[in-house]
Amino acid sequence: MAKPLLRSLVPGELGPLVTELGGEAYRARQLAGWLHEHDALAWDELRNIPRPLRDALAGRYDLQGLAPLERQVSTDGTRKFLFSLRDGQTVESVIIPMENHATFCLSTQVGCAMACRFCATARGGLVRNLEAGEILEQITHLRRDLAADPVPGHGERQFNAVFMGMGEPLDNWAALPAALHTMLAEDGLAMSKRRVQVSTSGPGDGLRRLLALAPGVGLTLSLGGTTDEERRKLMPVPGRTPLAEVIDLGARYARQSGRRTTIAWVLIAGQTDQAEQARRLAKLAGSGPFKVNLIPLNALDDDAQEPPTPSTVLAFQDILTRAGIDNTIRLSGGRDIAAACGQLRRRRLTG
Ligand code: SF4
Repeated sequence: MAKPLLRSLVPGELGPLVTELGGEAYRARQLAGWLHEHDALAWDELRNIPRPLRDALAGRYDLQGLAPLERQVSTDGTRKFLFSLRDGQTVESVIIPMENHATFCLSTQVGCAMACRFCATARGGLVRNLEAGEILEQITHLRRDLAADPVPGHGERQFNAVFMGMGEPLDNWAALPAALHTMLAEDGLAMSKRRVQVSTSGPGDGLRRLLALAPGVGLTLSLGGTTDEERRKLMPVPGRTPLAEVIDLGARYARQSGRRTTIAWVLIAGQTDQAEQARRLAKLAGSGPFKVNLIPLNALDDDAQEPPTPSTVLAFQDILTRAGIDNTIRLSGGRDIAAACGQLRRRRLTG
């Protein structure tokens, strides 16, 4: 069985560990620096950590849990990665180049139990949760990739992170709090809360846990329906939580974090692009501190579902705009490289 990953420990746990292994207390800070600042992936890279301490750490922990398997670059600059994990499973991460920074799209699970009808990751169900270290190490690899192949015009190390890859982040409560903690901690990745976004399909128990944790990061709620019936049809598992409760929890989280919650609306031709749905969505979004992202579907290889025509998308948007709802159309990048989450993994699984 693989050892635990050193990156799964939150920075505060490194001090006691170093002391237990006979190292000086200040080595914990150096160790955190190697993990979260210098993106180390091999014990030999930890140059100022004495060999006996390195060996003792290596006896208990693994430093690398992900091996790059595939890297694809889209014509729009989106970079998509497939990593193999130590047990042979695979996960995906994406670098989306924005105007002056990169956004990292991270996975939290291998597969997903939420069974959303429009999602490639849903096919095959949940395989397992990622460890906190496996979530954080995606950032390590993506930063190393940007260091080796920088995006012109981007600042050195600023990046945003969205939990929008494979898996339902709030369904991996064993790892998400630790991963968020390390991302935000001064002696971790020291990210601003404003640069982190948890994107969820909105299972009620998960939303309540997030409210209790109060991490202050942004929240995106994927609704999938403007009535309970619609939502259950497209998102059967998260759809078990009544829509009114999801909206209430999203609004409470927005008030707690001081940031509006984003409602993500996937536009699927004939299913979620109807005018009356736009009107109901406007009503829901207008009921609290929300804004709306409209996301035309990234069609799957083997599916009859398609995005609406551009004119239908604009007509849908117009209804929201006229109702005074702050909204944006988000085109998912990298269409030529299967950038919808789960598609790369699925292509490999199905040959
Ligand atoms: S859309 Fe997200 S929550 Fe739904 S099945 Fe896919 S990965 Fe899971």
